[in-house]
Amino acid sequence: MAENDISRPADFIREVVENDIKTKKYDSRVHTRFPPEPNGYLHIGHAKSICLNFGIARDYGGLCNLRFDDTNPEKEEQEYVNSILDSVRWLGFDFGPEALYASDYFDFMYKAAGYLITAGHAYVDSQTADEMRENRGTLTSPGKDSPFRGRSEEENLRLLREMRDGSHPDGSMVVRAKIDMASPNINMRDPALYRIKHADHHRTGGKWCIYPMYTFAHPIEDAVENITHSICTLEFEDQRPFYDWLLERLAEGGLLERPLPQQIEFARLNLSHTILSKRKLIQLVQEGHVSGWDDPRMPTISGMRRRGFTPEAIRNFCDRIGVAKRESLVDIALLEYCVREDLNKRAPRAMAVLRPLKVVIDNYPEGLTEELDAVNNPEDASMGTRKVPFSRVIYIEKDDFREAPPKEFFRLAPGREVRLRYAYYITCTGVIKDEKTGEITELRCTYDPKTKGGDSPDGRKVKATLHWVSARHTVAAEVRLYGYLLIKPDPADVEEGKDFKSLLNPNSLERLQSCHVEPALASAAQGSRYQFERLGYFCVDPDTSVDQLVFNRIVTLKDTWAKIEKAKKK
Ligand code: ATP
Ligand code: MG
Repeated sequence: MAENDISRPADFIREVVENDIKTKKYDSRVHTRFPPEPNGYLHIGHAKSICLNFGIARDYGGLCNLRFDDTNPEKEEQEYVNSILDSVRWLGFDFGPEALYASDYFDFMYKAAGYLITAGHAYVDSQTADEMRENRGTLTSPGKDSPFRGRSEEENLRLLREMRDGSHPDGSMVVRAKIDMASPNINMRDPALYRIKHADHHRTGGKWCIYPMYTFAHPIEDAVENITHSICTLEFEDQRPFYDWLLERLAEGGLLERPLPQQIEFARLNLSHTILSKRKLIQLVQEGHVSGWDDPRMPTISGMRRRGFTPEAIRNFCDRIGVAKRESLVDIALLEYCVREDLNKRAPRAMAVLRPLKVVIDNYPEGLTEELDAVNNPEDASMGTRKVPFSRVIYIEKDDFREAPPKEFFRLAPGREVRLRYAYYITCTGVIKDEKTGEITELRCTYDPKTKGGDSPDGRKVKATLHWVSARHTVAAEVRLYGYLLIKPDPADVEEGKDFKSLLNPNSLERLQSCHVEPALASAAQGSRYQFERLGYFCVDPDTSVDQLVFNRIVTLKDTWAKIEKAKKK
């Protein structure tokens, strides 16, 4: 029954789900949810949660809701809602015709608070925030009962109504569960259920001036949607007793039906060199350290999408990291490996020169253009071939020439012969320099007409093959190279409270504005991805215009992940 992909390691959450199916705990139903708060854009950590929740629903023939946990009006916005919808769809998951909203259950939540008061499980507390904090106790000492804990049902209900009707200012009172101020679990010491907040909500407008607390709202949202497995990150482990307490009380009162959802916690994703705190990401955007939420350096889904990552690669990454009960740090090289692995299969090859050096081939006929055959993808013959124009003046990469080459340098040097990809063997015969600066401005070469296509008829070997672009046929482009935003690999080094901006990499963006790409790319569509031979994978950025192509470097070709794996085996 389970279409569980064999390449995915079984995890402890899937074990729980399979067992519940076997025992018919939920009548063999599986219903998960992904519950973002619309207070920022989704990032790669959320992708892990999305893949887990939607993946379980898919694997066990169940459903997964996309539900906005929009209980905090001051921080939430429609822009965030839209971006989240967009990101989940782009990742390739189907949440049915519409997303759901916690705010649609505000009436029910209000009723639930009233019921809890009536049943003696809740009260209105008029202590100040400071008093409440003081009386909550500590990890080692019990809390103290609020002097308002004994209010009558009538008084509590009247105050609840007055709160709702706007008769009281923000912070003057809260509704609290009546559980146990001496509980060893601080979360069970009469947690707040409702607070007064005279603020407009992005969906309910001015209808409410009281809003449910997350810890109260979330279990109710799950239960109302008949969720079976409520999967969340580890920081909610201590909340689980309250989750269960609340749903039990509401089921006793007939407000909810059994079986009730169960909460299961897993370790969040931590990724090297990567900030995954929404609060910090917002700061990066608002203070202009990046160009926006979709800046290709951002760990957001929209940033990765703009950079050129594919949804397949991100899903694959999430499958590979799996889920565990203990937090760890995942090396970002694994994510890059997944991107490279996917693009290697799909991205057509092209030639581009990022830092051009002019080469004149003296014995090549002036005015002649040859159309040479180039393979589009050596991994996939069905992608065919294309023609690449060759002529007397070409550009090669500056890095591919050394006037005085060190021993390990096998590329072009004075007197040396190399292969031009798909074209000819050339030999460097001269170096022309700027008289003032001494900078090399041009190379003179000769070619061997018998090596057309890049093969020598006499079996003569060369040690390097260079990519190139014909100067007369080239298309100008800007290429943007990206480094990590964080200079420190472990984001935990970004200490809480400290200004993390001192740890930002000042060289995370390099713009090369005089690049040359082969003419086949002149009309490359936004978002299309290529492997520039020997350089890496690149994607056409939305900043592209009719006058100027703009490419993002998605990843280099260097596979640091394979190196890490190899080193581990040694
Ligand atoms: P905050 O609650 O501080 O605004 P958040 O990142 O938890 O930030 P939510 O919108 O609450 O944001 O997250 C939606 C879901 O994604 C939650 O279920 C949360 O547990 C999960 N999630 C968030 N960050 C990660 C992460 N790094 N790894 C895995 N899951 C995550
Ligand atoms: Mg959260």
